Amino acid sequence: MLASRRDFLHGLTALGAISLFSLERTEPELILYNGNVWTVDPRNPRAQAVAISSGRFLAVGSNDDVLHLAGGRAAKIDLGGKYVQPGFIDAHSHPAVAGLDHLRMVDCDLRSIAEIQKALRERATKTPPGGWVLGFKYDDTKASDNRPLTIQDLDAAVPDHPVFVEHRGGHTAWVNTLALRASKIDDATPDPVGGKYDRDPSTGRLTGHLREKAKTGLEELIPSQYTREDGREGVKLISKMMARTGITSVTDAFGTPDNLRAYQDARESGDLLLRIYCHIGYAFMDQMLAAGVKTGLGDEWVRVGAQKMLCEGSISERTARLSQPYIGRPNDFGIIVTPEDQLYEIARKAHAAGWQLGTHANGDVGIDMTLRVYERLQKEMPRRDPRYRIEHCTLINDSLVQRIKALGAIPTPFSTYVYYHGEKMREYGAERVDHMFALRSFLDAGIRPTQASDYPPGPFEPMMALRSEVTRTDAKGNVWGPKQKITVEEAIRVGTINGAYASYEENLKGSIEPGKLADLVVLGKDPFKTDPMDLINIPVERTMVGGKWVWEA
Ligand SMILES: [Zn+2]
Repeated sequence: MLASRRDFLHGLTALGAISLFSLERTEPELILYNGNVWTVDPRNPRAQAVAISSGRFLAVGSNDDVLHLAGGRAAKIDLGGKYVQPGFIDAHSHPAVAGLDHLRMVDCDLRSIAEIQKALRERATKTPPGGWVLGFKYDDTKASDNRPLTIQDLDAAVPDHPVFVEHRGGHTAWVNTLALRASKIDDATPDPVGGKYDRDPSTGRLTGHLREKAKTGLEELIPSQYTREDGREGVKLISKMMARTGITSVTDAFGTPDNLRAYQDARESGDLLLRIYCHIGYAFMDQMLAAGVKTGLGDEWVRVGAQKMLCEGSISERTARLSQPYIGRPNDFGIIVTPEDQLYEIARKAHAAGWQLGTHANGDVGIDMTLRVYERLQKEMPRRDPRYRIEHCTLINDSLVQRIKALGAIPTPFSTYVYYHGEKMREYGAERVDHMFALRSFLDAGIRPTQASDYPPGPFEPMMALRSEVTRTDAKGNVWGPKQKITVEEAIRVGTINGAYASYEENLKGSIEPGKLADLVVLGKDPFKTDPMDLINIPVERTMVGGKWVWEA
């Protein structure tokens, strides 16, 4: 069935984008045909061909219907029966920061402490005296040593430079003795509010492991080495890395004004290969409010997103605030980072100024607190369509799900954690994992969850997300939380149109429909006809954004 030109005209008129007159004269520039197109448009789910003009879909339908629209100049590409779907939308990750990290920091995603030491030592030899050696993507559960890094490991590897190694999850870090000294932190320093310096229980001495506000506090003392040009280069790098996996849009979940500028710079230089919805960290909001900026400013390439707030801890680092303690640590319930009254005050200002709100909340205690703040705001200052976001929204229960539904809030659960961080799930326990990354519960309740990697904390490959969400298996095949399995069709919907909804762009992208942005991905295999355990191995052959190929294998 052809979604007709009339539908298209109607759609565009609704968008108010182009006049009818100029449309009547529009010829497609490009036609993709002989495809196996999954559109994510329930009225027209399958198609063979699409026509594209000015970066948007002009027509979607059978080969016959679409090919006859070709004028003399239209390029035609035979897809040879390949599977096509809308590009994936990663609704929560940290592209600008990750790009900079990849440019300048030591990638500690290595499988032994000795390898990490070697990588840090090599970097130290190229670092001027007194300069910091910085690492990221260290994961305490991935090294074959079966123990976390220690301050002694770091002192032995790099004795003459301060070292800071961030955990993959971003909420904790490990430092050496020189880093503590440079930051004027010693055994007598008390824990900051919302954070913790780990201490050896027998001696009381610092172990160099910093959690939450203890980590961010020290991090702020590290002199920034980044220029404006670095920011653009970082976006260019991460853009390429993500485009080749089929991602066409990303929400930056904690942007700064520098990050926002870096996206714009990369766009101007032609290096931005994906669309950005840029949340702004609450610490920068005074600048934003003073400039009269609010959510939605920008265009389909770079747009201002929600105000981002932080309620509590991390899942991959096991600091999320839970109502029941961690398995094996009866007194550890995790960490609240921002007290509720403070969270409310931060949220109220932005809400009053017309901003969407996004709050990082993982544990059931944090989600409850975040919902209470949103419910209070909606009562005191009702907004028609606030689309409150609960970033991550990991551990739920029935009553939280009902409140999320009642508020129309949007959860952005981790898409690749079951697969990639499976070994950490033991600390939550099998029963609890049945209520984590709870896509089944959200969908059954009529809520619109998104796909979200949180990269660097989680890998961003959408094919890994599909395997994780559909099978709930980790890399070794262990099943975690089987009650939360969803179908391939649902996972694709979560990874496309739901992501668009979360940024108020469901009329612009997220499905292959006339009038929408021509963002799509061509896969080497049809996920509907693939063994779910093999979804992760489906190759991404081509990625298109705005009618242009940004990745071709
Ligand atoms: Zn995040």
